[in-house]
Amino acid sequence: MRTIHAALFAAASLITLDGAATAQPAQDEIAAHIATAKSAAGLDYRGTFVNLCLPAAARPAGAAAPGRRAGAPAAANLLTPRPAPDRGTWYASPYKVFDNFYWLGTRQHSSWALKTSAGLIIFDTNFAWAIEPEIVDGLTKLGLNPRDIKYVIISHAHGDHDQGAALLQSRYGAHVVMGAPDWKDTLARAPNVAGGVPHSDIVVPPEGMKLTLGDTTVTIVNTPGHTPGTLSYVFPVKDGGRTVMVAYSGGTLTGAFGTNGARWDEYIASQKRIAKAAADAGATVLISNHSEYDDAYTKARLVAAKRETGEDNPFIVGAQGVQRYFTVMTECAMASKLRAGAK
Ligand SMILES: [Zn+2]
Repeated sequence: MRTIHAALFAAASLITLDGAATAQPAQDEIAAHIATAKSAAGLDYRGTFVNLCLPAAARPAGAAAPGRRAGAPAAANLLTPRPAPDRGTWYASPYKVFDNFYWLGTRQHSSWALKTSAGLIIFDTNFAWAIEPEIVDGLTKLGLNPRDIKYVIISHAHGDHDQGAALLQSRYGAHVVMGAPDWKDTLARAPNVAGGVPHSDIVVPPEGMKLTLGDTTVTIVNTPGHTPGTLSYVFPVKDGGRTVMVAYSGGTLTGAFGTNGARWDEYIASQKRIAKAAADAGATVLISNHSEYDDAYTKARLVAAKRETGEDNPFIVGAQGVQRYFTVMTECAMASKLRAGAK
């Protein structure tokens, strides 16, 4: 027996000297990060887990990326004005989801309105073709007045979240708030891009800022990564008169990082920063700007359903539920960075 063990040990030593065998610890580490993320995702954040943790499958040329219709271009390339897609594929009614918080999304992309004692704050503005039916008409259907929009906070300068900003600024005089690098990208656009170009307005400084309107303060946290100027937030809403804190995750996908280790590290640090801000504030609600990640479209419709004793608003996931979301983002980014061979 002793001889056999010695022989096995010798063989193992030889393997570790072989260059191919050094890949094994990285594979083990990737698998460990993915397992941690999968466990944190549970049944709540499966879309986030799948999109961030699993390697993108090779697609035939011209096929749609996951979550995107065949032939639809990437969000960042949607600067050319184009007609609205078939309404039956995206339109959703607006919903009041808390006492003073409203979902104004399409079935895929979310915009939100926060009502304060001094007017409305809009979070993200969707595509140019969605701004009138979802935000302007949506607010009106909910008994709110679009003329009361005072601030429009843009999580990041991609067409699926920012094309409505210029209209809300020019028509209603709303102030547009963005991170500095994303303002730079926005202001460099040609004047005839979809939705137009907002004029330079409020720039979030590198240390973040607090934005107060009437009785409500939004804490804006810089979370560079998905774009260099991505913003995330923590703010209060009212649920049956009681204050509930919301954590808003402003940018998600990491597919463009490749072997750029600094971008991966920046993204990971950002998730830890917003996770800490959420924990410090006692946030128990996690929302995003894509329904695929936070189930907003389903939850918005569930809010109106009868609740049994002890059942919370469906958007309330608890402090641990909020932290689990950021664990998915962090652990998937760690796995994907290793997989990409980024240094
Ligand atoms: Zn984006």
